[in-house]
Amino acid sequence: MRPFHTNGGCSEYTGRAGSPTLRTSSDGECRKTNCPDCRQEVYFIRHNGGSVWIDPPLGPPWGLHGCMDRRVPNEERRASISSKKPFLPTNFGDTDDLFGVVVVSEIREDRSQTLLSIEVGEKEKLVVLVGGGADSFLGKMVRIDGAKAQLYGLDDRRLFLPILGAACIPPNLKASGKPLPGKIKASRAKRAVQTNAEKQAERTRKLTGRYQQHGLDEAWTVGQLIQLLGALRGAEKDHVAQSTALKILKHASETGDCSAAAALAAELSADRRARLKIWLAEFSPIKLRLDIHPFTARVNKHSDKSFEIANAQNALFYGMPL
Ligand SMILES: [Zn+2]
Repeated sequence: MRPFHTNGGCSEYTGRAGSPTLRTSSDGECRKTNCPDCRQEVYFIRHNGGSVWIDPPLGPPWGLHGCMDRRVPNEERRASISSKKPFLPTNFGDTDDLFGVVVVSEIREDRSQTLLSIEVGEKEKLVVLVGGGADSFLGKMVRIDGAKAQLYGLDDRRLFLPILGAACIPPNLKASGKPLPGKIKASRAKRAVQTNAEKQAERTRKLTGRYQQHGLDEAWTVGQLIQLLGALRGAEKDHVAQSTALKILKHASETGDCSAAAALAAELSADRRARLKIWLAEFSPIKLRLDIHPFTARVNKHSDKSFEIANAQNALFYGMPL
């Protein structure tokens, strides 16, 4: 599995490109820099359509940095950055709180959890998994109460989301001694916001790897084999489909449940599924219906056919004449 970040830094985390649930803000930032005039260390914050330079520490009472406050924006700055002062409430939060601007949000499909990457004035971003749909925080400043594990927007102090854990904490924050939310594994955070399609693709990748390494053995379940089939082509797919069909036949003869035959048919080409239908009719009382969607399979109790496992083993379903 690809590591969450490659060299231990939180800035590596940018989510998975192309994911439909991933959003990135281009007009929010919160970074430590040096004042262009006096070279002192300042925090530059951009959110809410405005920007401001703050003297450390990053938080209330939000001391505006003198030089930049007096300075008339030059043409270049005026073109890129509004001189409007963003909203920074001085009476909200205390010195133990963390502040930052959300620059990446990745929301779970059911909107029950969101992974937020937050610029907190450090080289690395703070990455937290929160309960609830929090993509509306993108590009906005948030306050984090680490002791209570709660995340607030600055607009409405009554609204907060529970922090389920921090997947990435910048080393300087750890060293600051401020209370921080508990750590969770990066893999858990990543899984929490994976789309169903991505989860499906990852399972298929794992099954394909297992098949390439170990081939087919008794341990494969019918469900796993059917999923594996989606990643196979040609003779290899026929070979695995034959094993799957036999497993389904044996299972059906023992339990009367043949529903997996319909799922198998759905993974096959039209030609192969037509031959599967004939093969099943030849060696079992299973009736596969391909004329309805989704396909169905049931054991026909009135059929005079019985399960002929041994004969079925000697006949390739994909070789059955149409
Ligand atoms: Zn200055």
